[in-house]
Amino acid sequence: MNIYKEMGISDCVSNLGEAALRDLKPRFEQIDEIAEICQMKVLKAMQECGVSEACLLGTTGYGYNDIGRDRLEEVYAHIFHTEDALVRPQITCGTHALALALMSNLRPGDELLSPVGKPYDTLEKVIGITPHPGSLAEYGISYAQVDLLKDGTFDYDGIKNAINDKTKLVTIQRSKGYQTRPSFSVKQIGELIHFIKEIRPDLTVMVDNCYGEFTETIEPTDVGADMVVGSLIKNPGGGLAPIGGYIAGTQKCVENAAYRLTSPGLGKEVGASLGVLKDFYQGLFLAPTVASSAEKGAIFAAKLFETLGFDTVPHSDEIRHDIIQSVILRSPERVIAFCQGIQAASPVDSMAMPYPDDMPGYDSKVIMAAGNFISGSSIELSADAPIREPYAVYFQGGLTFAHAKYGILRAVEELYQKKLIEIPD
Ligand SMILES: *Cc1c(COP(=O)(O)O)cnc(C)c1O
Repeated sequence: MNIYKEMGISDCVSNLGEAALRDLKPRFEQIDEIAEICQMKVLKAMQECGVSEACLLGTTGYGYNDIGRDRLEEVYAHIFHTEDALVRPQITCGTHALALALMSNLRPGDELLSPVGKPYDTLEKVIGITPHPGSLAEYGISYAQVDLLKDGTFDYDGIKNAINDKTKLVTIQRSKGYQTRPSFSVKQIGELIHFIKEIRPDLTVMVDNCYGEFTETIEPTDVGADMVVGSLIKNPGGGLAPIGGYIAGTQKCVENAAYRLTSPGLGKEVGASLGVLKDFYQGLFLAPTVASSAEKGAIFAAKLFETLGFDTVPHSDEIRHDIIQSVILRSPERVIAFCQGIQAASPVDSMAMPYPDDMPGYDSKVIMAAGNFISGSSIELSADAPIREPYAVYFQGGLTFAHAKYGILRAVEELYQKKLIEIPD
C-alpha cells in the first residue's frame, strides 16, 4: 500500500480501492477465462495461416506481393470467421474504416438504416445527419433511424416499419460510444440480425465493432453480421499498432471496400505495409490480454465510483460487452478533475493539464485525458467527456490492469483533494 502513498494516493483512497478489489475477484476470474479463450483463437488463427518471420517484414512503393499484409488479412478473416478482411495502415482511424465500409457498399438511391438509435458522433457528418461535403447524403444515399425503446431494447415494430425497398445496409453499433445506453451483447446483436434478415435476407448488416473485440468469446460475424469494422488503435491493435483499421466480412463487402480504399481495378493488390506489420501481428497477439486488462480497469472504476455514490453505465455487477465505462459525475468540475487525475497518472505527458475544447467531429466541447505511447489511442488509459448533461465521463483502457487501477485511484484522489467528493469512513 505504501507504494501508492509514494505515488500520491491518500490512505483513505487506496483503502477504498482495495476493498473494491476484494469484491471483484470472481468477476476478474470470468474475464480471465474469456481472455484465455480469445488468446487461443488468435494463436490458432496465426498457426493455421502459417505466419512466418518473413510476414513481419513490410513492403514499400506499390506494395505488390506483400505476403505479411495478405497473411494478416487471412488471420483476421480466421478470427472473425469471415470470407475475407481488409487490415491496412492506410485506413487512418475507426471513423475512416466505418466511412469506407459504408461508402463502398452503398450506391446512390440506397438507404442506410440504424435500428439502434443515433450512431457515434463522428458518423453524423459521414452519413449527412449533419450536412457535410462528401457525406452519403450528398451522394443521394438516404438515412433512416429507429431509436431504442425507453428500456434500452430494440423497437422491433419500428424497425420492421422502417425497412423499405430502398433499404440496403443496416448499421449496428455494438458499443455505446458517447451515449448512456447499454452496449449490446453479441447474442443481442445476433437476435436483431436474425429479425432483420427474416424480413429482408438480402440486406447487408454492418457492425461497428469498436471497443468490442475480444470482450466476448464470439464476435458479431459469428451471429450473422456481413461485416465488422473497427480501429487498430483500440482493442485489436493491442496497444502496439501505431495506426490502422479493419473491415472483416463477406468477400463482396471487403472487395467493395478495397476498391474504394485504393482504386477500382487495384483493390487489395496495392498498399505497402511499410514497417507496421510486426506491430500489427504482435498487437493482435496481445489484444485479448490487453482488452481484459482494460475491462478489469473499467469494472474497478465502476465499483469504486458506485461506493462513492455515483451512477455508472454499465453497473459493476453487469456483464459487459466492451471496455468503455461511463460514470455520471453530475457536474463539469468533477468531469474536469477526473480527467486531470487520469492525465497525471500517465506514463507520457503526466505533466500536461487537460481542459475542455472544441474537437473536429464533435458538437459540444470535449475534454480528453491521455498520456499515450500511440497518440489518441484509447486502448491505453484514457478518459474523455463531452461537456454536456449528464456530465458523464467515459473512461477506457489501460494496457495493464495495474496502470488502470492507479489511474482510477489518481482520479479519485483528484476529486478528493478538490473536495468534489466525500470518502465514506
Ligand atoms: C472510437 C469509435 C469510433 C470512431 O473511431 P475513431 O478511431 O475515433 O475515428 C466509432 N464508433 C465507436 C463505437 C467508437 O468507439
